[in-house]
Amino acid sequence: MELIQEIENKKSISILGSTGSIGKSTLDLISLNRSQYQIEVLSCFDNYKLLAEQAIKFKPKRVVLSDPKNYNELKKLLFGTNIEILSGRKSLIESASIPVDWVMSSIVGMAGLEPTISAVKQGTTVALANKECLVSAGNIFMSEVEKNSAILLPVDSEHNGIFQILNLNSGREVEKIILTASGGPFLNLNKDKFHDITPKEALAHPNWSMGPKISIDSATMMNKGLELIEAHYFFIEKNSNVKLDLIVHPQSIIHALVEFIDGSIILQMSTPDMKIPISYTLNWPCRASNSAKKIDLAMMDKLTFQDPDIEKFPAIKICKEVLYSDQGYGVALNAANEESVMAFLNGMIKFTDIISIIQNVLEKYKPEKSTCISEIIELDNISREITKKEISKCLM
Ligand code: NDP
Ligand code: MG
Repeated sequence: MELIQEIENKKSISILGSTGSIGKSTLDLISLNRSQYQIEVLSCFDNYKLLAEQAIKFKPKRVVLSDPKNYNELKKLLFGTNIEILSGRKSLIESASIPVDWVMSSIVGMAGLEPTISAVKQGTTVALANKECLVSAGNIFMSEVEKNSAILLPVDSEHNGIFQILNLNSGREVEKIILTASGGPFLNLNKDKFHDITPKEALAHPNWSMGPKISIDSATMMNKGLELIEAHYFFIEKNSNVKLDLIVHPQSIIHALVEFIDGSIILQMSTPDMKIPISYTLNWPCRASNSAKKIDLAMMDKLTFQDPDIEKFPAIKICKEVLYSDQGYGVALNAANEESVMAFLNGMIKFTDIISIIQNVLEKYKPEKSTCISEIIELDNISREITKKEISKCLM
């Protein structure tokens, strides 16, 4: 009897992208209160060894390997457990629809869109780390959230900070929402040195430990541009006069600021550790303690702010234009960025080519506004083909 009650009281959760930086931090938090959770689904792309380790430790009901190549290897590693083992993209999308209390959407890139939509369609609580969903499909994604009465919680630290502030204050009195940006590893590097930047240098973020794609996005400051678009869909209601802005704050202690009509600014701060915003979404509307380091105010060095240098980091300007263009540019921007970042990481193009390729794609391709997810996917494919042609002109 007691056992049945314990199972019923557990929060059931799925983690899409459990082997990544956000997925691992989510499991770290869960391991602090293991008995409170029942894990339904863990998924990854091809890191079957880590997926198997996680499965043995956290005993999910199901694991999904999106790339089927190592399905048999995964089966061998999980032999003797009663965990259901699936592979392939279809299984991933279908598994995301299994009813649970909370889903972490932490697959990187456009690959996360369909599984996240599948989770949204459950009408459950979805913690959204995958910002590419909103950049590519903002309006359609948000109307699915509304239609299915899902609850969408922002994981991205800046958006989570804004969400925390807005939960305590009236949204009607907000004048401006301000995201902070660390400026990435090249904030103080002269622009004429940018073409020599190597993937290793670009991956070394000064404050945050993250997956490779978002680390490169931070180095180009594309990440901050994508976050402006993300913030628009999360927080700016139609016809609202609330302004969106960003400020460079190299220490990454203050994550977000909200300015109110009376001139007050309320800010959210914490050490730069994604466990803090993830924990807020996992426990929302409550809070729970976690293993992240706390700020020691007396030991803190100075906190500084400066305007972003748009000439040095044109990605911010590109994203602002995309945001206010009212066309299907978001999907093209995201696809061009994903492909260029991958090409840079694979040593095919220079760091500076990333942004010029994106600019070329956006100049050449003017997609129509999409009306459904399948159209978004089609535009994404076309955008990638155009980007690959641009990449081939820059090969080193
Ligand atoms: P990682 O690269 O560390 O992890 C990505 C996860 O997605 C892995 O589990 C990976 O599996 C899986 N994955 C990759 N490609 C596919 C695919 N085609 N199909 C299915 N699964 C796939 O990324 P992060 O954790 O850094 O970022 C995840 C998302 O969260 C991104 O959208 C990012 O912008 C956002 N975010 C991340 C932050 C951070 O601090 N890391 C902060 C704020 C937002 P495998 O391991 O097998 O490759
Ligand atoms: Mg962020």
